[in-house]
Amino acid sequence: MRGAHIGDVLLKKTVLKKSDKILLAALAVVMAVSVFVIIYFIVIGLGGGKRPAESTGGHTETEHTTEGQPGSSTEDTRPPQTPDKVIALTFDDGPSLSVTPKILDLLEKYDAKATFFTVGYNLTSSKTELLRRAISMGCEIGNHSADHPSSLKNLSDEEILRQITEVNEKLSELCGTTPTLMRPPSGSINRHILEVLYEGGVRMYPILWNADSRDWEFNKRYLDGEISREEAIEGAVELVLSEASDGGIILMHDIKEITPDVLERVLEELSAEGYTFVTVSELFDFESMGEDAYFSKFFSSYNVVPVE
Ligand SMILES: [Zn+2]
Repeated sequence: MRGAHIGDVLLKKTVLKKSDKILLAALAVVMAVSVFVIIYFIVIGLGGGKRPAESTGGHTETEHTTEGQPGSSTEDTRPPQTPDKVIALTFDDGPSLSVTPKILDLLEKYDAKATFFTVGYNLTSSKTELLRRAISMGCEIGNHSADHPSSLKNLSDEEILRQITEVNEKLSELCGTTPTLMRPPSGSINRHILEVLYEGGVRMYPILWNADSRDWEFNKRYLDGEISREEAIEGAVELVLSEASDGGIILMHDIKEITPDVLERVLEELSAEGYTFVTVSELFDFESMGEDAYFSKFFSSYNVVPVE
């Protein structure tokens, strides 16, 4: 019995030893598999997430990488619709109750801003709402003289000063804005005119243009029966598009019948080319130029010429 008992115990010990060995072997296999799995995921992780990893860490990395890639590739291959080019639309000789509202509607439609160089004789109280609307849209109001003489050059000093100050006063009364921009009639300007204004206490930046629609001329040729309305619009659009450039200034007139149709085509084309339509003051850093800015002609943001 005892012997058998001892034998049983011995047997049990042997059995236990055997199961221990099996257990240890199983543990070793589990550990080896674990180590292999860990090494496998480390390698996948370092591999740069080319494949979607299934471990939590790998997944986050992969997600981060794939999120980053479209972002950086969008920056690298910026499409034309990205607003990286700017241009200033300017309208002279208004405001007009028939044309200016159509211009503002189109600007609104294309999320564009413009600068209006107004003439004194068109600044009546009936235009108040129109001017306020333009300002509320972020547009800029400038000065195009009181009576639109063919040039300021032929006028007396006193008359030069009156042509500009009168418009500033009217605009201040009508819509509470005092312009800082002046477009001399016919683009005609000289040092003397600017000195007269400066000495008279008027601080204005003379703004010219580098892309002329000649809408007034095409409109006249259409009215004279020389060309069709479509040809007139096409002619002005082609001129603008051929001269339009980044930082440029486009000249149009918000008193001409064809001008809204010209504008719509220009907005359509230049928007597709990636242009953003800004005001003239947004195009230039006038302040950095100091007093020189009052004695310079501004054609485009890349073309500013001192007035001799
Ligand atoms: Zn004019």
